[in-house]
Amino acid sequence: MRRLICLLLTLLLLLCGCAAPASQAPDTSGDDQNADTANLPETDEPLNPEESEKSEDAEGEKAPDPAPPEFYEIRSPAEEPEGGSVDGVTYAPWDGIVEHLFFHPVVAYPELAFDGDGDANGIDDYMVTVDEYNKILQSVYDKGYVLVDIADVWSETAGEDGQPKMVRNTLYLPEGKKPLIISFDDTNYYPYMLENGFAYKLIIGEDGKIWSWGIDPDGNEVVSRDLDAIPILDKFVEEHPDFSPFGAKGCLSLTGYEGILGYRTQTTTTGWDDAKEAARQKEREAVKPIVEELRRTGWTFGSHTWGHIRLGSGNMPKIQADTERWFDEVGSLVGETTILFYPHGERPDGNDWKNTGPAFQYLQSKGFRVFASVGIESFSYIKKDICAVICDRLHPDGTTLRHSRDRYLQFYDAKDIMDVNVRPQREIDWM
Ligand SMILES: [Zn+2]
Repeated sequence: MRRLICLLLTLLLLLCGCAAPASQAPDTSGDDQNADTANLPETDEPLNPEESEKSEDAEGEKAPDPAPPEFYEIRSPAEEPEGGSVDGVTYAPWDGIVEHLFFHPVVAYPELAFDGDGDANGIDDYMVTVDEYNKILQSVYDKGYVLVDIADVWSETAGEDGQPKMVRNTLYLPEGKKPLIISFDDTNYYPYMLENGFAYKLIIGEDGKIWSWGIDPDGNEVVSRDLDAIPILDKFVEEHPDFSPFGAKGCLSLTGYEGILGYRTQTTTTGWDDAKEAARQKEREAVKPIVEELRRTGWTFGSHTWGHIRLGSGNMPKIQADTERWFDEVGSLVGETTILFYPHGERPDGNDWKNTGPAFQYLQSKGFRVFASVGIESFSYIKKDICAVICDRLHPDGTTLRHSRDRYLQFYDAKDIMDVNVRPQREIDWM
């Protein structure tokens, strides 16, 4: 009996050897003031730079290791299932429109977001609240949409002339279902968001899953799976596995100028020193397990440029330097991607549909194949003169909840979704 206990203890110690990623308060050092402003409100106010490091490194106080991850299967919808069915569900080919919705981070605490400060109207325009987001997910699920990953919708192949080109894949979906891509822009947890009622960062919980960490309006630390778009979707898929028959979740569109996923992994061009670099490396290490777990559970990543820059500017040196910096600071953490989401929805060279200008050619040469803007329908177009596809996304947010109810009825009815009571008292078309 004693030997058995000894054995168990040894095993336990061995298991504890790899420390669990400790949650950290965000390091707010190194704001790059040169960075292009997002199409989101920004604040110049510095954050509280206090770092409340936990003493979890102390001997004997280690947090328990996360539970071993549950198996998570990811399949491609472009592969026809053998025999035409999976687990008794019949699959049918789909060559129609693949709808694409995109969100920004969602508002966890409307009382902080819509407090009448200078950011309130911008957040009202571009974001939805947690409650609205929950209702939107439920509605698209009820209407028969299933999640697919953006990278599975088109493939690169050789054309008749031997040149590479993009083709639209036939998707094989559970019979009666419709495909839906969801992407999430600016999931960087910019400093201005932190004081405006958003989650501060993603962390790995004791169960090994993705949770959010933040501060509630009373100043308490909150670790939750119900206050951020990413864990909310994870949870929704756990509860409704048929919403994601292929394991897909969403594509996270990341800039780099304030780090990624709430971790301050960026460099700045001014006042850099060894201490800042050491802090940055620590943040890079801290975010790696988050990225790994996201990838493992169906999340993918795309570029939103490093500095949220305007790709229509024609400023090629700026576009090239920004792209290299994105690969150095973000791509090096999230891995290769073929997806580019235009900041401000602004098309390279003015018109990426009719022209293939120098910015588009350059970005394509760096590996991007799917170029996503923002529009009034889930339009997509395979370019003929270069191996690339351009597509538009719809944008559930305050603007469209207020003013575009009809266009979104195939997904949800704004009347059932919009949290009129917590948002600013501004015009609503359907009232
Ligand atoms: Zn953006």
